[in-house]
Amino acid sequence: MIFSKKKEIINPYTLEECNSCHAITKRKFKDGDYVFKGTDKCGSCGADKMMVTKIFGEVIK
Ligand SMILES: [Zn+2]
Repeated sequence: MIFSKKKEIINPYTLEECNSCHAITKRKFKDGDYVFKGTDKCGSCGADKMMVTKIFGEVIK
């Protein structure tokens, strides 16, 4: 049997998109995040809410 000796750590990220200006922000995943959740104010255009569009993990090497 072959075992991987690398221990891979997955670092979760959240992508938020603004509905008005379509700015996309990538930030670290926070507990309670889910796709289509309304989040913070847009930093680009000042719209009230951004929306979580994607949650994904990146492997840390
Ligand atoms: Zn915006």
